[in-house]
Amino acid sequence: MSIEPLLKSPTSRLASRVSLLKGSIIDSSTSLLASQKHDIIRFAMGAPNAELIPEAEFARLATYPAAGRYDYAATEGNPELIEQIVAYHSRRGVDLDPSRLLVTTGGMQGLDIAFKLFVDPSDLVIVESPTYTNGIATALSYQGRVLEAPVDEQGLIVEALPALVAATGQIPKVIYTIPNFQNPSGRTLSGARRMQLLELAEEWDAFIIDDDPYGLLRFEGSEEPSFAELSPGNPRVVSVRTFSKVLAPGLRVGWMDMDPALRALAVNAKQSMDTCTNGPMQQLIADYLSEGRLDAHLNTLREVYRERKQAMLAALAEAFGQDVEATDPEGGFFLWLTLRGRYAAIHSEKLFPIALAHGVAYIPGPAFSDSGAFADALRLCFATSTPARIAEGVQRLHAALEEALAS
Ligand code: PMP
Repeated sequence: MSIEPLLKSPTSRLASRVSLLKGSIIDSSTSLLASQKHDIIRFAMGAPNAELIPEAEFARLATYPAAGRYDYAATEGNPELIEQIVAYHSRRGVDLDPSRLLVTTGGMQGLDIAFKLFVDPSDLVIVESPTYTNGIATALSYQGRVLEAPVDEQGLIVEALPALVAATGQIPKVIYTIPNFQNPSGRTLSGARRMQLLELAEEWDAFIIDDDPYGLLRFEGSEEPSFAELSPGNPRVVSVRTFSKVLAPGLRVGWMDMDPALRALAVNAKQSMDTCTNGPMQQLIADYLSEGRLDAHLNTLREVYRERKQAMLAALAEAFGQDVEATDPEGGFFLWLTLRGRYAAIHSEKLFPIALAHGVAYIPGPAFSDSGAFADALRLCFATSTPARIAEGVQRLHAALEEALAS
């Protein structure tokens, strides 16, 4: 029997929440790109290329003897991994409390758990605009009401929040922020604004979901204080972390840091999702960290990503001059390109198939908002390609924009 009649029927047997599940342009572009036969330079996905993943180390570590490697792990996470996460941060001068940590299946599961714990139908969720597509999708999947708040060079414009919130007639329940090298804008929330956000959360009795996959990838400038440094042990702050950007996204391992009472609830939530995070992958990362390899690896990544970002900015300036405006991130994977001047009227979604035909892929701006905004913007990932490929990719983007102008 086909599922189609069930989907179309007014008395559909599917759960009503199905209508809240948003497909992500980012995820669909992964399959679209995989099916393309011609050479495509990938500025789309937020992923490193294979040569930056320590595959040989992983292959060696996967053969280490480890009791129970293939058993169910504790829902909280492999104790060796938790110990190694704590030890790694302690070497960086950051104290983590193991009773606050929960290992998750990537950062994405951390977000899902956090929104699941906090969001009732119609609850107000503040997000940066633009923001990570799947962050918005997760808030919506729990029937949250998403309030998109503007950002500038220093990240979320926190001063603007009280007026925006007053206009909704609601008090926010959750503030979702990506404080470092934000996805997609590449911008970083200033320390002063982090402090103001903590104060607003207090005033509103709201939670802050601090989603920081890129913080360890700062290659320029100086670090801003984390929420935990500004307000140690604050039960309103739930931090979501992942190994996807610093090691490899396919590992699907991340972790959360939250108040122990919340962690107990998060463990219950996780039990009905996947019971525990993938055991062999947790063990692999625990062994990798215990050999003390992460710092050297991160130093390499920072070096490589700095060079790639510079290559992308230089190529953009040369190809486009004033006809585009790019952010200049101090870390992470992405920069945000806004079409200006002669390209200002081009719609980044309409440009996408033309760009693909020219052999370059990116994520169109509207993917990062629920309101159709940012038609004139593109997210470009500089992490995946070498400087030479980046230069070539920007040329292809230029050719695509010229074709779009002519058509
Ligand atoms: N949050 C942000 C801001 C991200 O960019 C990503 C990955 N693109 C995630 C969460 C999800 O991370 P993971 O792949 O580990 O699930």
